[in-house]
Amino acid sequence: MEYPLEDIGYAEAAFNRFYDIGVTDSGGVTRLGYSKEEEKMHAAFSELGRGLGMEVYTDAVGNTFVSNGGVSSGYYLIGSHLDSVVDGGRYDGVAGILAGLLALRWAKRDGLALSLRVAAFRCEESSSFGFSTLGSSLVAKGGVGAEVWALRDKDKRALGEVFAERGYNPKPDRISGVREYLEVHIEQGRVLEEYKQKIGIVTTIAGPRRFNLYIQGRAEHSGATPMVMRNDALCAAAELILEIEKIGMAESVRNSVATVGVIENQPNALNVIPGEVKLQVDTRGIEIASLDEMEQRIKQAGKTVCGRRGATFLKEKIGETKPVAMDHKMQDKLARAAHSLGISHRRMISGAGHDAMQMAEVCDAALLFIPCRDGVSHSKKEFAHMESVCDGARVIYKYLQEECGQDDTH
Ligand SMILES: [Zn+2]
Repeated sequence: MEYPLEDIGYAEAAFNRFYDIGVTDSGGVTRLGYSKEEEKMHAAFSELGRGLGMEVYTDAVGNTFVSNGGVSSGYYLIGSHLDSVVDGGRYDGVAGILAGLLALRWAKRDGLALSLRVAAFRCEESSSFGFSTLGSSLVAKGGVGAEVWALRDKDKRALGEVFAERGYNPKPDRISGVREYLEVHIEQGRVLEEYKQKIGIVTTIAGPRRFNLYIQGRAEHSGATPMVMRNDALCAAAELILEIEKIGMAESVRNSVATVGVIENQPNALNVIPGEVKLQVDTRGIEIASLDEMEQRIKQAGKTVCGRRGATFLKEKIGETKPVAMDHKMQDKLARAAHSLGISHRRMISGAGHDAMQMAEVCDAALLFIPCRDGVSHSKKEFAHMESVCDGARVIYKYLQEECGQDDTH
């Protein structure tokens, strides 16, 4: 869809307001959660909000809200985040904030009689403290597990200390008054590009389940130990990695994936047969049964492969998050909104976690994807067209207009 220069220009100007914050030598950006750079991002967002003539406020954990004040008790919330991974891109999170600002701007222009707020949630990426969607979790649940406060960033600052320093409340009140939550995010994959669609309407956000796998063989001299006498842990790991790929393949019919992303080989020396290997496995899926099946089969494969090779095998679960369904009615209405605007769309799952999965605990929530070039994300090469940001904003805005027309409480 064609957008007036004014809209594209506004989105670009807002994008440029963030552009240099946390810029790295390589040309990417590092804006870690609860860092100075994230602080600057929130300050810039606040300025943009005030520039639109909106109210700006910060909650008890540092999330920033831009509000049109509105006309009723409940409000619609458009959210995303402004932090990044280390040396990341400029669109992950920011695209959703821009979409929110555009919607606020149109709402003001049209005098839309509806309460609307845009939230920038803190620390969505796990890159800072090893814990993702922190800002939205805190206000959606009213807290997080006690162990989280001991997590440290790369400067060895404990999260609890950072909160104490800044006067944030580790047990904030749960966010209230939200009627519905909407989020626009870059896809971070290639599905939309592949299918030549402009909008992805997310049905379910996959839940990750992660494991450490320990394989214990025998470290021996690589010259003096004949081939038939070895218990090579790395060879066992190699077989197991391929088994895990097969398991992921088999469960891909249920939209699941399985990845061995980390391998630690001991002693990792040229003249020593590997004695000990640790693998880290990331499985994700939208069906619990499929996640269970993968976990069971990985355990079995580990035992079988290691048993045959005279190695021992140990599996340790290091994290588990349940898949989260997005609201069905909202998906349908967003599909209708996209259709009426002539913006192509498809329903899809989200393999990555987003703030929307936390907000789904508070209210009905929806997540829209826009394409990013070649599916590249968490990289300085990340790129999305401003037209795509406008597409996301437009679908949400159309949705809100319909809500406004249909709902006579406003
Ligand atoms: Zn993101």
